Amino acid sequence: MNTIIWAGIALPAAGVDVESDWAVYVEDGHIVETGARADLSAHHPEAEQFGGAGFLLMPSFVNSHDHGRGVGTMPLGDPDDLLELWLPGLWTLPPVDPYLLTLWESLQLLKSGVTTTAHSHNPRTWEQMEADSRQAIRAYVDAGVRVAFHPPLVDQNQLVYAERSRFVEGLPASLVPVAERFLAPPSLTQVDYFALCARLVDDFHDPLGHTVHLQVSPAGGQWCSDELILAAVDFAQHHGLRVQMHMLETRYQRIYAFKRWGKSFVRHLEEIGALGPWLTLAHMVCCELDELDLLAERGVGIAHNPSSNLRLRSGVAPVPEMLAARLRLGVGMDGHTLDDDQDYLRELRLAWTLANRPGAASPTVTAATVLGMGSVDGAAITLGDNVPVGRLAAGQLADLLLVDWEGVRGLWSAPTVPVEELLLRRGSRQQIRHVMVGGEWVIRNGAHTRLNEDDLSAALRAQFDVHYTAPAHDEAAQMQALAAALRRFYASWDS
Ligand SMILES: [Zn+2]
Repeated sequence: MNTIIWAGIALPAAGVDVESDWAVYVEDGHIVETGARADLSAHHPEAEQFGGAGFLLMPSFVNSHDHGRGVGTMPLGDPDDLLELWLPGLWTLPPVDPYLLTLWESLQLLKSGVTTTAHSHNPRTWEQMEADSRQAIRAYVDAGVRVAFHPPLVDQNQLVYAERSRFVEGLPASLVPVAERFLAPPSLTQVDYFALCARLVDDFHDPLGHTVHLQVSPAGGQWCSDELILAAVDFAQHHGLRVQMHMLETRYQRIYAFKRWGKSFVRHLEEIGALGPWLTLAHMVCCELDELDLLAERGVGIAHNPSSNLRLRSGVAPVPEMLAARLRLGVGMDGHTLDDDQDYLRELRLAWTLANRPGAASPTVTAATVLGMGSVDGAAITLGDNVPVGRLAAGQLADLLLVDWEGVRGLWSAPTVPVEELLLRRGSRQQIRHVMVGGEWVIRNGAHTRLNEDDLSAALRAQFDVHYTAPAHDEAAQMQALAAALRRFYASWDS
């Protein structure tokens, strides 16, 4: 169907001039023409029209790093703490239908204006990873969310990054069997992993329509041997895919690199030839500032996750320095927004606020720059540079939002205030009214056009109910004791 979408004001891309009474003409999922509403109406008199004077028309958002968990980990009994203490709890989350959970995640993302997401999969068990991945990908497609889906693999340093024998020797005897569950290597070998990725590429990778991009993920520097990282780069090159890795999320990961090689992770990755424009590094909180130029030279993308880095007590990534080095950045929610609600505009608000640090000599990071991270730059580091997502222009995929602009403006906002500043300071999911993905309205008036939210939430609640009314076991107490042991172990790295 041919449609003209119009609004009283429009922001065709972050940082460009704001337009009034502006429209896009959409055919077969793509934007064919943009311009004044009157001109487009004259050029395409047969097209259906949708919009309104009180809306802001803009590109939709790209969530550059996440895990598609659907429900936050804290409400499920894995409390916020240092990453190293929080991570083991992921293996104790309830076994809820991955298809339904991913539909729920998709619904939260779309209602928040996100139409493309990166999904780094946290397997419930390694044996189930392929079946769960297939269900999750199917759910994104059914809900209308573009996904960069990366199954992960680890092959070293589970639970603690180094000095494993010292850690185990320091455990009380009763905790040893608890820790062993998390210290065990994955049952999936490297050969199994790449065979699994190849099957998922064959069945789902869509480099033309960009509904699903398969990617590979050595999960993080400390958890992966050089051999695994290089095999992932080779596999990605061979299949034309991207690689996403967690990197330098915490101070202990940084310390590990210096203990292991006497140099930083980035220097090591450079030496083994793992840095290139195919790579996106998530977090990068504890990086060396004098290595950012090297990363920019290699074309590496960074996924910045401000809420998650605060909740897991990692700190604040040096975004102004990254921007000064001309690194390309996206923003990801990592399933861990401050309000635990996957509200993407709030996440951009936090990214913008944290990037502007105290001191007259500190650089100013504009709202337009941060909005670019949430759209066109995020698309480049999530799907790739050549994917037509993140701007409203002829030839781009028709992924867009109509935002209740009167709601954002509130009682009064001066017309001179930049649109990006108002949006990032005052906007939230409440004002996301209509969301289009590839020419189809997936959210109309704040509700999904295909999914029934009430039925979906009832089905998920029923599954959680079964798990949490099961006979009480001592897992929570064991996990607390393990967290205390991990806290003591890493505290010794600080001294
Ligand atoms: Zn993550």
